[in-house]
Amino acid sequence: MARTIVVTGSTSGIGVAIATAFAQKGENLVINGFGKADEIKAIVERLESVSKAGVIHHPADMTKPDEIADLIATAAKTFGTVDVLVNNAGIQHVEKIEDFPIDKWDQIIAINLSSAFHTMRAAIPLMKKNGKGRIINIASAHALVASPFKSAYVAAKHGILGLTKTAALELAEAGVTVNAICPGYVLTPLVEKQIPDTAKARGMTEDQVKTEVILKAQPTHEFVKAEEIGALALYLASDEARQVTGTHISIDGGWTAA
Ligand code: NAD
Repeated sequence: MARTIVVTGSTSGIGVAIATAFAQKGENLVINGFGKADEIKAIVERLESVSKAGVIHHPADMTKPDEIADLIATAAKTFGTVDVLVNNAGIQHVEKIEDFPIDKWDQIIAINLSSAFHTMRAAIPLMKKNGKGRIINIASAHALVASPFKSAYVAAKHGILGLTKTAALELAEAGVTVNAICPGYVLTPLVEKQIPDTAKARGMTEDQVKTEVILKAQPTHEFVKAEEIGALALYLASDEARQVTGTHISIDGGWTAA
C-alpha cells in the first residue's frame, strides 16, 4: 500500500527531487511551496504520472503556524495519515550581522527552523497512532560548520540538529525515526541566488565565488546532485533504516571532514 509523504518546499530544487524519488516508489505525495500556478500544476501532473498514486499541492506558508497545521491536517484528510515528513523548505540571506535585516533574520528562523517544529507537532500524533513513521529534516553542512555572512541560516541549521535529536529521543519507542541530512552545495535556485550577494559581500566576481568560495569548500570540487539527496531520503524512510535515529548524515563531498 502506498505511503503518504509530505515534503515542504517541494516546488523547486532539492524538495522536488525528494518528491520525485518517492514518486518513483509509487507513494502518495503532498507537495508544498511557492511558484506560478501553471508551474505547480505541471509538477503535480509529472509526479502523478510517475507515482500512479495521489499527489496534491498545499500552499502553506512556512512562516504561518496555522497554515502549517492545515498542511498536515489536509494530508491526513486526503490520504488517511502521514507516514513520512520531510522538512525541506528553506531560504538564505547573505549579509554581515550588523547590516542583516531584522525581518530576514525572523523569516529564516521561521522557515528553516520553526516550521519543522510546527509540522512535527501536527504529524507526530498521527505517526504515534500508526506505531511507525519517518521524519527527515533537510539541514546543511552549515548545521555543523559556519561560514561568514550567513548568521541566520547557520543558526537555524544548527538549531534543527538539536530539534532532530530531541524528537528522536521522544519518539525512540514509538517506531518513529528522526534524522537530518546535511548536504553540501547543490546548484539549485537557493545557491544561484546567493552568488551575486556573496560576490558583493566578499568583493569578488561571480565566477570567483563559484570556484573560490563554493567549490573550494567541497574537497571533491563537485556540486552534490539533488537526486542524490532524494536517494538518501528514500534510505532513511526505509524499513532497513529503523535503527538510524537522532543523527545526521552528511552528503557534502567531504566538506565537513576538513
Ligand atoms: P530552492 O530555493 O530551490 O527551494 C526552496 C523551496 O522552499 C521552494 O519550493 C520554495 O517555494 C519553498 N519555500 C520558500 N519559502 C517558503 C515558505 N515561506 N513557505 C513554503 N515554502 C517555501 O532551495 P533548495 O536549494 O532546494 O533548498 C532546499 C533545502 O535544502 C533548504 O532547507 C536548504 O537550506 C537546504 N540546503 C540546500 C543546499 C544547496 O546547496 N542548495 C545545501 C544544503 C542545504
